[in-house]
Amino acid sequence: MQVDYIIVGFGLAGLAFAKQLEENNKSYVVFEDDSQTSSGVAGGMYNPVILKRFTPVWEATKQLEVAMPFYKKLENQFNEKYDYPLKISRILHSVEEQNNWYIACDKPSLSKYMIPKVSFEKIEGIKADFGFGNLRYTGRIDIKKMLSTYRSFLKERKQLVEEKFEHNELEITEENLHYRDIIAKKIVFCEGFGIKKNPFFKELPLNGTKGELMTIYAPETDITSLIKSSVFVLPLGNHYYKVGATFHWTDKSNTPTEEAKKQLTEKLDTFFKNFYEVVEQSAGIRPTVKDRRPLVGTHPKYKNVAILNGLGTRGVMIAPTVAKELYEHLENNATLRKEINVSRHF
Ligand SMILES: Cc1cc2nc3c(=O)[nH]c(=O)nc-3n(C[C@H](O)[C@H](O)[C@H](O)COP(=O)(O)OP(=O)(O)OC[C@H]3O[C@@H](n4cnc5c(N)ncnc54)[C@H](O)[C@@H]3O)c2cc1C
Repeated sequence: MQVDYIIVGFGLAGLAFAKQLEENNKSYVVFEDDSQTSSGVAGGMYNPVILKRFTPVWEATKQLEVAMPFYKKLENQFNEKYDYPLKISRILHSVEEQNNWYIACDKPSLSKYMIPKVSFEKIEGIKADFGFGNLRYTGRIDIKKMLSTYRSFLKERKQLVEEKFEHNELEITEENLHYRDIIAKKIVFCEGFGIKKNPFFKELPLNGTKGELMTIYAPETDITSLIKSSVFVLPLGNHYYKVGATFHWTDKSNTPTEEAKKQLTEKLDTFFKNFYEVVEQSAGIRPTVKDRRPLVGTHPKYKNVAILNGLGTRGVMIAPTVAKELYEHLENNATLRKEINVSRHF
């Protein structure tokens, strides 16, 4: 088999790059072994405001301008719904937080998203003595469904190999790459935390941060916005909600833990007053990088070996932008910005 590209890993990064190839009529094959779960378990939220300090997310507005049409195109291609616009209601905890909310609303980079008032609307079952700060133009992408439809599409066209990519079997020459019976011009590694097993890129400072979520069923509760306090409560419909997420810096497994469940329920109980039961729990490793910037570009020695990783805690917003930038770099020699170029670490 001869192709333009091999993609290793089919989470958000792999999907975003595959779509670039699709749009540019490039041939490719994808390897996916289900060893990482980050994209599959993620809440899928897009939100340009950091809700701890009311500060802007790095380049969020620019990223959303690329991301929203990107997801729309996928919805049209597969005739499915992935984007669920959703108001975010941040519980305010003090007068000081109320003041900080107003101050932040005046900042030009935030005023589009933050509604400049404190809302005292009653949300049944939610304790919010100091009211809510509301955000608009935010929402959720159903990543799981999007990955699943795209995977079926690749499978039908025999472009998906559902097995582990064995790095030591890759032969690299200046003209092309050989892997078993595949000859490719280039390879792009989109392995998330799986990078740790990749001999070409494993030394990069991608630490990974484990996150856990639980799904609750709350039959008496009917919330339509995303509630954010020490944890978020994300409505899924039919009285189901996702609650998350934890941050753990040493455990690098994808296994849900009792410790995280305890942490999530304790935090949830401080503001969620209705009955609920936990029906599911899931975990994944976010591909977080020390300097909090993505890892995009090529190997210092092999120009046909590339990486798209380090999407961190906000893959939904950033993946389409960086996939496009990598494509332009590999195919049209466009210069990669220093901030995202993986060369900053070599
Ligand atoms: C609990 C949690 C909540 C989150 N919530 C949000 C959120 O609300 N919004 C948001 O934007 N982001 C969120 N994130 C972050 C988001 O999930 C990531 O930024 C994004 O999914 C990373 O995508 P990726 O494709 O780089 O990595 P991954 O999703 O990890 O994908 C890498 C893929 O490569 C495969 N792979 C690895 N090695 C190999 C190999 N050798 N051979 C074959 N296949 C291989 C893996 O199986 C995996 O499918 C959350 C993450 C977690 C864990």
